[in-house]
Formats: sequence, C-alpha cells, structure tokens
Amino acid sequence: MVCDGFSVNHICKSCKRLLKPEFIKKDDVISFYKYENIEFLIKYKYEKFGSFIFKELATSFSLFSKKYPHKLNVIPIDDKIDKGYSHTAILANAMKKDKKLFSTLHSTNNIKYAGKSLEFRLNNPREFKYFGPKGIDVVLVDDIVTTKTTLKEAKEVLKKHNVNVLFSVVLADLR
Ligand SMILES: [Zn+2]
Repeated sequence: MVCDGFSVNHICKSCKRLLKPEFIKKDDVISFYKYENIEFLIKYKYEKFGSFIFKELATSFSLFSKKYPHKLNVIPIDDKIDKGYSHTAILANAMKKDKKLFSTLHSTNNIKYAGKSLEFRLNNPREFKYFGPKGIDVVLVDDIVTTKTTLKEAKEVLKKHNVNVLFSVVLADLR
C-alpha cells in the first residue's frame, strides 16, 4: 500500500525498513516517527483497512514497551470504535506487558480536530470523561501530537480523579 512493489503484506519489506522507528523525546512526549514520513499512513485512520496500517505502525509501541523497565497503566485517548476499530486502541494494544485501560477516557464532543487551528481547538474542548480507576499513574497513547491541546485537556480531567500522567506516547510529534 505504500509503494508499487509486490508484497503479500500491507507494507513491503523495503518500505518497512524506511519505517524503522526512532526514539524521540520532547518534554513529556515520546514519539517514534517524523510526521512527514508517516503522514500518508496516518490518514488511513479514516478508512476501514486503516487497522492494518496501524498494526504495522504499532510495532514502535511494542518495541518501546519491551524496553521500558516498568509495567505501565496505559490509556488510549478517546478509543471509540469507528469503522470497526479504534486506532489508539491498536497502538496501546501493542504494549504487550503493560496494563491497558481501554474505554476509560472518551471525549463527549465528537468534533474532528484534524487540520484545525489552535484557536479552534481551544474554543472546542474535547470534554473528556474518565471512567477508570482513581489514584494511579498512567501513560497516555495517541496517534499524533499537534498542539498538545488534547493531552493537556486529558491531563486536567485525569487530575480530578487523582490520576497522574507520567508521560505520553505517540507515533509523531508535530511540534
Ligand atoms: Zn513498499
């Protein structure tokens, strides 16, 4: 799906080599790819077969989880099922050794942020509701960080439940 080469998998071996994850840390956000390298792949989240693409990209989350010495509580942000899957749930699910808190942090405002300005994001908060356990440390999972508005909002809501965000893990950080 990435090149014209023949492959029985969705992403061929040579393209997979190009998608080798890096380890990028900016303040409390860990990311694995430069956005321009995976932009065309992330866009598949709006498609039915995007689940295959996200499973490939989720390898980066799996490697990170393997290397991280402690067992984490992982919250995929707004992991509602859309077109048969949730892209943040696929990413979180790749963190094999960690505890996943699925469907615990959902937005009550279904406005799409893609391509929208910071002003629009600030004027239209996601209005997260948290349904998970209180008094724990967690790691947030999302596909991309654009302005950090979503992460900040999620953190504020979690704080009210005495849930402390250690850091966030995303595919790409655009900042
Ligand atoms: Zn290829």
